Amino acid sequence: MSRGRLVVHAHFYQPSRVDPFSGHVPADASAAPFRDWNARITAECYRPNAERAVLPHLSWDLGPTLAAYLAVEAPDVLARFAAAGASGIAQAFHHSILPLAPLHDRRTEVLWGLRDFEHRFGRLASGLWLPETAVDLPTLRVLAEAGVRATILAPWQADVPHVDARRPYRVDVGGEQHIIVAFYDGDLSAAVSFEPSTTADADRFARERVAPRLGVGMPDGTPPLVLVASDGELYGHHQPFRDLFLQWLVAPDPSNPDRGFDVVDLATAVAEREGHPHAGIRVRDRTSWSCHHGVARWSGECPDVADGRWKWPLRSAFDRLAGAIDAVTDRVARDLPGLADPWAARDRYVDVVIGTAEAEAFAAGQLGARAGATDRRRLLDLLEAQRWRLAMFASDGWYWDDPARPETRQVLRAAARAVRLVDGLAGTALERRLVSDLTTFRSPHLGIDGATIYRQALSEVGQPPPHA
Ligand SMILES: [Zn+2]
Repeated sequence: MSRGRLVVHAHFYQPSRVDPFSGHVPADASAAPFRDWNARITAECYRPNAERAVLPHLSWDLGPTLAAYLAVEAPDVLARFAAAGASGIAQAFHHSILPLAPLHDRRTEVLWGLRDFEHRFGRLASGLWLPETAVDLPTLRVLAEAGVRATILAPWQADVPHVDARRPYRVDVGGEQHIIVAFYDGDLSAAVSFEPSTTADADRFARERVAPRLGVGMPDGTPPLVLVASDGELYGHHQPFRDLFLQWLVAPDPSNPDRGFDVVDLATAVAEREGHPHAGIRVRDRTSWSCHHGVARWSGECPDVADGRWKWPLRSAFDRLAGAIDAVTDRVARDLPGLADPWAARDRYVDVVIGTAEAEAFAAGQLGARAGATDRRRLLDLLEAQRWRLAMFASDGWYWDDPARPETRQVLRAAARAVRLVDGLAGTALERRLVSDLTTFRSPHLGIDGATIYRQALSEVGQPPPHA
């Protein structure tokens, strides 16, 4: 019988805290003694895990907005991720819930995430982490069309009652294309995430929790697989010393006894089965790993929240704004000489966002020689508005129980940046309509309405209030 395989996947991500107007992360007293939460989580989690040489033995994804922070503030940490690039997979760029997004946004988020991975880690990603593992068939088709070969889902996202997660599956996505889905082990992943006693001793975890699951071979002779998936910040930030647990679990050590299984990354576990046909399976549409009510957590009244009545009106306001910004984008683009397709230009604009292209040169490349400086400026403003219109859908804005929280203020500032660029560019009054739409919901705890939270969020970063 083949030796079993353990894959430990760490999803490294945290909400973006960049002020969209200045490009800087404001200081945050709640993160003391550190300057801000990015700095604190870097010290507690990213740096120790990177320096202990754990990353090459994990499977991991690193959010592009987080990678951008590390590139500036902790380049040595990012360099260790890059050195371990072979064990990494990409992530959709702004961590938005793709099944709730229109198709063109899904494509852009996936293409931007893949491009960011290629830039940061010097190789093409073979897999991609779906934010909150939120999935539906069209999203998987977008992945397959972008060249993504594999993704990770929760076991209850399989469209069968008790999926055997010890093997990856093939999902046919239409158009004669398919993608490989690895389902994580639900019990073990929950234990790692929520039961600190389970992870006090890595040897015991390997002996008592992992090895028994790998003791029975697969019928086709392929190695049985256990995939443990969790937030990466768990290891050292949410749970102290779990960076040490991780090191003892996955990093080779000559003093370790043979545990009877091998630790590999996701790509290796999938590639090992080449030649053995993958069993086909279907996924349950509009499901996720952190909401047991589909994707209601980010769109409606998920029963886990005492009062989620604010979530749908916020999303509705943003959906309306996004549609209006897209209409302006098409209209302005028609008057820009040489611009064949503004949506293809948006897909390519990631190079300006991540710094691989200089903005003026990018605009000149898109518009050609006939365009003047004013046209180039208009294109760049338009695409920058599209960038923040995408960023405003970051899942964090809806994740918690109250829109007055910093994560929702952050997506409101992204919306403000987008709408102010567009109103300035096209002479529209979309911000006024946005503010009106935001009055339709309230903070359950503070009682203030969404428009008040919007004004506060702008004031916090020194931006003027919207016009009355
Ligand atoms: Zn829920």
